[in-house]
Amino acid sequence: QIFMPLNFLGFVYREIRGSLANIENLFSLLNKKSQVPITPNAPELSAQKGLVEFKHVGFSYRKDRIILQDVSFKILPGQKVAIVGESGAGKSTLVKLLFRFYDVTSGSVSIDQQDIRQVTQDSLRQNIGIVPQDTVLFNDSIFENVRYGRPEASNLEVNQAIDLANLRAFIESLPDKHETQVGERGLKLSGGEKQRVAIARTILKRPKILIFDEATSSLDSQSEQLILKAIKNVSKGHSSLVIAHRLSTIIDADNIIVMGDGKILEQGSHKCLLEKDGAYKQLWLAQRDNEEQNSEDSHSTESL
Ligand code: ADP
Ligand code: MG
Repeated sequence: QIFMPLNFLGFVYREIRGSLANIENLFSLLNKKSQVPITPNAPELSAQKGLVEFKHVGFSYRKDRIILQDVSFKILPGQKVAIVGESGAGKSTLVKLLFRFYDVTSGSVSIDQQDIRQVTQDSLRQNIGIVPQDTVLFNDSIFENVRYGRPEASNLEVNQAIDLANLRAFIESLPDKHETQVGERGLKLSGGEKQRVAIARTILKRPKILIFDEATSSLDSQSEQLILKAIKNVSKGHSSLVIAHRLSTIIDADNIIVMGDGKILEQGSHKCLLEKDGAYKQLWLAQRDNEEQNSEDSHSTESL
């Protein structure tokens, strides 16, 4: 009885060490139970453009509670779309549906006009790169940790990913440069550094669509700037979806979707939404007051 879970962990560990090394696979391994049905003889997704469409999507995890209701939006090829809204609004659920951890209850999700239920899961997941909030680092060099994004990538490609993710200066500052061991038994990285490793891994995978579950809220503003620059670099030529915790980080998005209670309350550019004087403006003002409050607090601590 005791050995069962240990065996399972061993299995998971070997899977990770093997060629399937990326976080999405880890997620799907741990979610074996909730896997969606496999469509027989499904073709591969062909995502040439990267047009993502949610059409009248409804979703419930369990019958007794509706989580998403009539959610419709598009990410046009190459666009950056942000999702904002209070905690529990359904933002992460949208990402789980796009990655097909679950199937929609009603409506549809498609990529380049192909319903994601009608293509193979592997091809879907090949085309989507998720930068998760928490990144797992393996006991290996920082260079190999980046290579986990695509194990067969060349050194040159790993180096390019490191540059795009704004990791170069950090790596140069390490005792053994890119050979430096990281992870549990090596150097512990800060939240912001780990996040950039995750960005480098994801871009190395060369997905058409990028998803960032932005975890910049707990970071100092310098790490935040490094991450924002990394996101900007790697998003070029990709359709991207950013779940934003700080509105100040997504002002430049092509479209901002404001979620509340499982529904889209508003969508538009930063400028349009501020002019509307609705839910977005309220969030914006609330965050600004909050940040002013925080900086006053830190000033008063400094003076003590
Ligand atoms: P957000 O990312 O906006 O904070 P989520 O999409 O994570 O919100 O969650 C939306 C709602 O769905 C929340 O009320 C949450 O409790 C619920 N929820 C999330 N995951 C599950 C799950 N696996 N099973 C049941 N309910 C869930
Ligand atoms: Mg979330």
